[in-house]
Amino acid sequence: MGFEPVIGLEVHAQLVTETKIFCGCSTAFGRPANSNVCPVCLGLPGALPTLNDQAVEYAVRAALALGCTVQEKSIFARKNYFYPDLPKGYQISQYEEPLAIDGVVQFSDDEVLHRVRITRVHLEEDAGKSIHEGFSDSNRKTHLDFNRSGVPLIEIVTEPDLRTPAAGALFFERLRGILMAIGVNDGNMEEGSLRCDANVSLRPVGRTKLGVKVEVKNLNSFRYLEKAIEYEIGRQASVLSQGADVVQETRLWDTNGDRTVSMRSKEEAHDYRYFPDPDLPPLIISSSFRENVRKSLPELPEVRAERFMDAYGLSRQDAYYLSADRELGEYYELVVNVSENPKASANWLIGAAARRAKLTATPVWNIVSAEALAELIRMVDDGTISGSIAKEVFETTADSGKSPIDIVRDGGLSQIGDVGELEGVIRQVLDANMEAVGKYRSGKEGTLGFLVGQVMRATKGKANPKLVNELLRTLLGA
Ligand code: ADP
Ligand code: ZN
Ligand code: MG
Repeated sequence: MGFEPVIGLEVHAQLVTETKIFCGCSTAFGRPANSNVCPVCLGLPGALPTLNDQAVEYAVRAALALGCTVQEKSIFARKNYFYPDLPKGYQISQYEEPLAIDGVVQFSDDEVLHRVRITRVHLEEDAGKSIHEGFSDSNRKTHLDFNRSGVPLIEIVTEPDLRTPAAGALFFERLRGILMAIGVNDGNMEEGSLRCDANVSLRPVGRTKLGVKVEVKNLNSFRYLEKAIEYEIGRQASVLSQGADVVQETRLWDTNGDRTVSMRSKEEAHDYRYFPDPDLPPLIISSSFRENVRKSLPELPEVRAERFMDAYGLSRQDAYYLSADRELGEYYELVVNVSENPKASANWLIGAAARRAKLTATPVWNIVSAEALAELIRMVDDGTISGSIAKEVFETTADSGKSPIDIVRDGGLSQIGDVGELEGVIRQVLDANMEAVGKYRSGKEGTLGFLVGQVMRATKGKANPKLVNELLRTLLGA
């Protein structure tokens, strides 16, 4: 029998506030253990939470960008459970009345337009971190670091609208792009700023009722998410085809074994004894605040990518690459406005400029000004310089800040487009390479590339390669 996979995701995203959600402690990553703590985030008796306004604004930004309705009134609730990294004995979250509901995210791969409904977006605090290794007594003890305790998170819950592992991973990637573009999350999955739980079930093809689901916790890369969903689909299919039932449970992704392993049986909401936190008043979002936040939203990556494809004829891949980062997209458009060559502009930002950016750990838009890059592109387009000289000029501009036009003029780098001058050079090259000439004439066409290379060398890259090709063929044919 055929089964259809059903997938819903729960994503935790850390908001980029300076301080924690209910106290003034720093959220800085990588500080000595237990240095960013105070009575509130350590859960000491009598300490009272105060809500961080900035966290609320970021959460509203995210909710609106995900097409949600922001509720005028939402309620903080205590989610009660015992765990060493949770000293209060409860996590402050939102349950019955979340910040926002009913959103939708649309994204396309090259074939399908995906539409994933967002069930809810709510605010909550992160827990501390249990450290099981790295200490001399790690074989006997678990160490605890509470720096992360009280760091502001939003949880984004989707409806079970995804159907394939690839679509799940792509959704997560697009979601990350949105959260980064609107400036609420740093996208750093290695540091745990963005993590995903995958809910996976199977049902017989054609049936509408959902099957029993398994939740795979804390996936912190697109690849792991995709692999974990894939593995679960295979595992559940084999359970079901043996006539057995899938056990509803929470599982973990085992990165070494490339499989999911059982962690615990699934807890039910009532196990957590949710109730409204008496220390926090209802969160009221006025319509004017909400609308001001809406007005401040930038163009979202999906919209920008589609526009780049339409307006500039870019491939989907290039369009998304250039739209994933807000500043990169803005820089790209500045370059295009002057260069009037969208494709070449994209190639520079994805190729040579990106390589230098990576090498020097500098954002692409800080390497050379948009005007300088556009100047360079125009000089290639009007035949003033060759593509290979352009690469050198780019590096020189980046090193010195000198304008490409000045560098070309001062360095005498203009392309040799003069037929007479080039013919002279070519004759010299042919005289010096009689053996290659003989091979070419005896039918070895491939030798032409070698000869072109020699001419380019003799002219220090300044010859127009197209012209060299033509002239060589004529002279060799003679
Ligand atoms: P729980 O009560 O176990 O937390 P929820 O109904 O709150 O379950 O859903 C949590 C997540 O699991 C959501 O992303 C939802 O879309 C997804 N989900 C719910 N039921 C299923 C199912 N049968 N198969 C796959 N995903 C599901
Ligand atoms: Zn604190
Ligand atoms: Mg739930």
